[in-house]
Amino acid sequence: MKPANRVERVPPSGIRRFFELAEEQDDIISLGVGEPDFTAPWATREAAIASLEQGKTSYTANRGRRDLREAIGETVDQRYDLSYDPDEEVLVTAGASEAVDLAFRAFVDPGDTVAVAQPCYVSYVPGVQFAGGEVCPVPTRREDKFKLTREVLADAGADEAEMLVMCYPNNPTGATMTREELGEVAAFAREHDLTVVSDEIYAELSYEHEHTSIATLPGMRERTIVINGFSKAYAMTGLRLGYALAPAEATTAMNRVHQYTMLSAPTTAQYAALEGLASCDGVVDEMVTQYDRRRNLVLSRFEEMGIDCFRASGAFYAFPAAPWDDAEAFAEALIEEVNVAAVPGTAFGEGGNGHLRVSYATGMDDLKEALNRLEQFVDTHETNPKA
Ligand code: PMP
Repeated sequence: MKPANRVERVPPSGIRRFFELAEEQDDIISLGVGEPDFTAPWATREAAIASLEQGKTSYTANRGRRDLREAIGETVDQRYDLSYDPDEEVLVTAGASEAVDLAFRAFVDPGDTVAVAQPCYVSYVPGVQFAGGEVCPVPTRREDKFKLTREVLADAGADEAEMLVMCYPNNPTGATMTREELGEVAAFAREHDLTVVSDEIYAELSYEHEHTSIATLPGMRERTIVINGFSKAYAMTGLRLGYALAPAEATTAMNRVHQYTMLSAPTTAQYAALEGLASCDGVVDEMVTQYDRRRNLVLSRFEEMGIDCFRASGAFYAFPAAPWDDAEAFAEALIEEVNVAAVPGTAFGEGGNGHLRVSYATGMDDLKEALNRLEQFVDTHETNPKA
């Protein structure tokens, strides 16, 4: 059987190879993972179990349970000043991943150009390509702390695009953007009539300033699809629950795809998420505090080791410059010699060259041990083998 061309032209994920390398080693500490090391709050698991005991094993409404949509609407209003009608403007999906995919499938025609701020989460580029779109990479720059600016958008030719995909707090860089900084991006989007897909799955994990959604800027609500979900803040990756917030025409178009391809998001997970929103603020706050402690540790240890790293302010990633010119060779040697896995920045598209994604979604003891091993590695390899 011959796979379709649009499938064949998409390469396998660049992250996989490093996970495979890591799997071959014993005693590996992975700073490569993109998911919380915490378990979902007990109350959410209990609610999931109770729903199963009560036999809640059917489909839900295509858009998701009404009570969950209402709770999502109330929560995003309180936390991010986002006001969306639960009946028409909230769509519950199988993870944020499905919401991102639906945005592409509902709004990208073959040949449309989608500007993608990079380095970025690995699913955007393939998602655009599966939908038949062309990707216009917008490489953000270390000197801008990997923020999206009018200048990088213009330099990349994003004015020619139909859509812009962005993610702050960012995976893989840990960058965040303030309301003021987002203003420039919003102005560019308005001037060039771009639809914006804003992946805000790390919204809860913004350590140095309040998270602002670009949809709250003037003239942006009507052109933005906000993506969020429960995987990160609620440590619920395996339960597969996310959502999209957008004007009614947009969620209706996305739901047209969703109702045929997914029918409804996992029912058990919807009960867990509902409980998460109702009673787990304290547990989420505690996880955020832990991440922030780890962030400070990672950044200060990098500084002591002489590893150049901008001050990551969100998500659970730091994005240091690799001590060697060849970040891939560095990451490979780090795995082979001291059993610590980090992912080279090239796996996340343009702009990530020469960097490493270091995830601190790892328990404090392992994190400390991994940093000690990294220090030992850096100390014993002072020369740059590829220089
Ligand atoms: N967006 C970003 C930026 C992510 O990092 C991830 C998970 N690594 C996702 C979306 C996918 O989230 P979900 O588990 O909700 O599909």
